[in-house]
Amino acid sequence: DGEIAAATSGPWVVGTEPAFPPFESQSDSGELVGFDIDLLRAIGDQAGVEIEFESLPFDGLIPALQAGTIEAAVSGMTITEERAATVDFSRPYFRAGLAIAIAEEDAEITSIETLEGKKIAVQIGTTGAEMAGGIKDAKVSTFDSAPLALQELANGNADAVINDAPATLDAIATGNIGGIKVVGELLTEEFYGIAMPKDSPNLEILNTALTEIIENGTYDTIYEKWFGT
Ligand code: GLN
Repeated sequence: DGEIAAATSGPWVVGTEPAFPPFESQSDSGELVGFDIDLLRAIGDQAGVEIEFESLPFDGLIPALQAGTIEAAVSGMTITEERAATVDFSRPYFRAGLAIAIAEEDAEITSIETLEGKKIAVQIGTTGAEMAGGIKDAKVSTFDSAPLALQELANGNADAVINDAPATLDAIATGNIGGIKVVGELLTEEFYGIAMPKDSPNLEILNTALTEIIENGTYDTIYEKWFGT
């Protein structure tokens, strides 16, 4: 209402669900680490805004944005039409997609078609959960975090997990979850965005800083740190 919100003094409280490595997780000492964490810190430095993280459940991030209790959310969150109806997104900052994970010794499940009637574990409120919900006769169980869903598969209590490929591949590569593999093609192409409340005056500041760190090489340095070979 005519008020010019001066956002650059911050702090921006940024919500994240810190059980989604390599994007966000907690180190042994309880510190938040990950690609998204470094990205937001770099954006804060670039924009001259102080960033404060707040841990929230993944399905609590959009409600918190709507309630105005956080200024932004970064959580490997896919830009979807449905979400964009309730929050605003930054320009895309990461390309991902959904992958099917199964037990290493499973030779039966090879594609989305072969998931019919299977037990599928997913993380609540995610694009993977939505995909699983559309599979005929599938028995879908939901978990608060992706690692918990993957553990259910590793324990033999689920036939498959549908989750973001970069997160599942990281869990396999780091040995965080054993005895599982990714099969078939990616089910989707998805782009992550940083979410802000609808019509936030901070969105332009965010996008400008994000573009600047993409152009000045900072983004590449962070990418290399978390995804470099
Ligand atoms: N990219 C997926 C989504 O937005 C999963 C995100 C996550 O689990 N942190 O639904």
